[in-house]
Amino acid sequence: MYVKKDRKEETFDNMTDIHKHCPICGTPIPLEERVCSQKCQDVLEEQQAKIKKSRRTLTILMIVFIVVFAFIMFFNNLMK
Ligand SMILES: [Zn+2]
Repeated sequence: MYVKKDRKEETFDNMTDIHKHCPICGTPIPLEERVCSQKCQDVLEEQQAKIKKSRRTLTILMIVFIVVFAFIMFFNNLMK
């Protein structure tokens, strides 16, 4: 891991303006890299898992809301 870090810094010195930043710690990284290190890779995967989970929860909540709304509309129509 530390050897990789040294190589990364060497690459950074040779880099042109075209680069991006590690989404976790903001370290400049080559375009083909997603994150700067294995540690940040782990953090990124953990964050994405959380986002995925919260999106799924949100989707379920929306479905429940739509079903409840449909039921209310249905019974409103029955009352008329
Ligand atoms: Zn990083």
